[in-house]
This record gives sequence, structure tokens and C-alpha cells, in this order.
Amino acid sequence: MKGMDTVGYDVDGVSVEVRRSAKRRRTVSAYRQEDGSVVVLVPARLSRAEEREWVTTMIARLEKQDRRRRPGDEELAERARLLSREHLGGRARPTSVRWVDNQQQRWGSCTPADGTIRLSSRLQGMPAYVVDCVLLHELAHLLVADHSAAFWELADRHPKAEKAKGYLEGYAHAQRWPAPETGEEPSGPSGPSGPSGPSELTEPDPGEPDQLF
Ligand SMILES: [Zn+2]
Repeated sequence: MKGMDTVGYDVDGVSVEVRRSAKRRRTVSAYRQEDGSVVVLVPARLSRAEEREWVTTMIARLEKQDRRRRPGDEELAERARLLSREHLGGRARPTSVRWVDNQQQRWGSCTPADGTIRLSSRLQGMPAYVVDCVLLHELAHLLVADHSAAFWELADRHPKAEKAKGYLEGYAHAQRWPAPETGEEPSGPSGPSGPSGPSELTEPDPGEPDQLF
């Protein structure tokens, strides 16, 4: 390309292409390509040392942007720590807590064997106490895997536990009986079947991730 020369870098495993442009006077910009590599556009007059410095700066900036685009997992892990401390004496210590998009039939799941907790991203945007109660439910499963009385003694320690269950039942009910104009069929393994639904709580198989909340 006329008036432009390119240099390649590898910064911490990220391949970076620097394009120097004579037309560029002062601005430096950067973007990520689909393959994950980064293009940094710099004015041609920059020295190599300045160029390298800008590359480092721009990569840090892009990484910060990427983190901001996926908010929530860190916040969720922090909520889990607080809830465990407040209601479970800090005994529930998940190895990871994260949002997932592929849980349409359940609000949260927990695999006690490896200590991981996942919450459905459908909860995002619901009141904080609802998210907290689902999170506390899954945290309690790290201590008691089944839905025994001992489990509910822990899971129901949140002062708004009953209110949260009501909220989620109402939500599930509305989903199951959509307004006629949407024309959506209720979906689920068993379809609409009386009072049961996604928020019904049944005994999970031992060793299986918790299926329901
Ligand atoms: Zn459960």
C-alpha cells in the first residue's frame, strides 16, 4: 500500500501488525481482527521505540475493552463470596461461578464434584435479590447435594428466599402461557404439565449437576 509500511510483532502470544501511515499525523488507533490478531495504525514519523510503546499501550487498552464487554462473571464470583460469608459461614467455596447462555430450562446449576456454579443469563436484568437467592441455592448445594431438609435450612437463609421463588414461579408461568399474539409454544422436556415447571424442585441424581431451581 502506498505511503504505508508494515511491521509484525508478537506480544504475549498476540500477533500484532503495525501499519505506519504517512497520512496519519498524531493519532494512533488499534482494532482486533476476526482471527484475534491486532492491527495498530501509527503515524509514520514515530520512532521504533515509540512504536513499540504504543503497541503495548494499545493492546492493554483493547484487552480492557474486551473485559468490559463481558461483564458479570467477576461480579458474580464476588456476590457468591459475600453470600457464602453472610449465610453459610463462608463454608461454600465454589471453584468458579459464571453466567451461561445455554440454560433455558433451569436458573442455575451446580456440580458439587468440581465445585462449579453456573447461572442462566436469563437472570440478568432480574432484581438482585432473585439472582442472590438462586446463587445461594447453588452455593448451598456445595454443602448439601440433595434437596433434603438440611439443604433447605441453608438455601432458605436468605431473607427474601420465598419472595424470589415466587418471582421465578411467576416468570416461568408467564413463559409457559405466552400472550396469544406471540404464538410461541411452551417448550420443555415435558411441556406444560400442571403446576410443575422449571422452578419445581426435585431430587437431583447423585453426581449429576443440579437440574432445577
Ligand atoms: Zn437445587
